[in-house]
Amino acid sequence: MIFQGELIKNHTTIKIGGYVKYFSQPKTLDELIYIVKLARDKDLKIIPISNGSDIIFADYDLDIVVIKLDKLKGIEVYDDLVEIMVGEGLPRVAIYLEDLGLSGFEYLYGIPGKIGGAISKNAGAYGMEIKDLLLKAYIVSWDGELIELGKDKLNLRYRDSDVLKYGVLYKALFKLRKDSPESIKLRRESLSERRKLTQPYGVFTAGCMFKNPNGYSAGRLIESVGLKGYKIGDVVISNKHANFFINLGDGKFDDVMKLMDMAKERVYENYGILLEEEVVIVR
Ligand SMILES: Cc1cc2nc3c(=O)[nH]c(=O)nc-3n(C[C@H](O)[C@H](O)[C@H](O)COP(=O)(O)OP(=O)(O)OC[C@H]3O[C@@H](n4cnc5c(N)ncnc54)[C@H](O)[C@@H]3O)c2cc1C
Repeated sequence: MIFQGELIKNHTTIKIGGYVKYFSQPKTLDELIYIVKLARDKDLKIIPISNGSDIIFADYDLDIVVIKLDKLKGIEVYDDLVEIMVGEGLPRVAIYLEDLGLSGFEYLYGIPGKIGGAISKNAGAYGMEIKDLLLKAYIVSWDGELIELGKDKLNLRYRDSDVLKYGVLYKALFKLRKDSPESIKLRRESLSERRKLTQPYGVFTAGCMFKNPNGYSAGRLIESVGLKGYKIGDVVISNKHANFFINLGDGKFDDVMKLMDMAKERVYENYGILLEEEVVIVR
């Protein structure tokens, strides 16, 4: 099913964004292939999203097709190999595999993304990235064909990959490490505590706005140029972690862009370091 005119802010964690021309949430592979082919035939740009926790859309109308993959769910376990559909959320995957004594996803437990977005952005935390677990991915190519690609082809790197050169992720195969559910749980809980102490939660945000430049923390750089707590309109730079920008309720896309420009300019003037966006911006 394809909807015309969807308010995309409702599908992102920062709750900013205007109407997109077409919107679809496929429940099967056939539906996904159908939509991809339809968009290709109409020459429309496709933006896949999974949980919308690392993406900000402009708040004017956008002539694009957004395919949200949160309905494609399922986890199949074959000993230490696990096949996961892209619509599964990282927290649920972590708990499910923890109970089976399979380690790896406990590091990603606190990330509010789904498997699709996590692979596309090579999500990671506490010294671990999803690429450390991934073996291969199944992708619906921009031509509407299901293709299978080994992890090397996807060029997963720091908060980025080549996934979108190929198409839309459908499912992926991971290799995990066997461990006792108790030890996995302990690790998950202790990492979760650390996260709560250092990051804002329960707020409208898209996570880290900028990548950490080599050897530096983007948050500390932004804090050191006096921008912690700085606010434009209804968007504020978090007092807890300056790389998180928070929409207080009525935040506008332009406010976020102005704050990002300001952070980039001040950090560049003071340190000669050019911050690079981590969050995906669609305009
Ligand atoms: C509070 C908070 C904390 C966070 N902490 C972390 C952290 O510790 N580490 C970290 O790495 N990230 C973190 N993030 C960022 C974000 O959660 C991760 O990048 C996450 O993996 C994105 O997943 P998603 O499903 O929300 O992706 P989306 O935001 O939906 O999409 C992100 C990108 O992936 C693409 N994409 C999505 N689905 C597919 C698909 N099926 N096929 C192809 N491309 C696709 C999109 O087009 C977009 O380019 C945090 C975010 C928040 C809000």
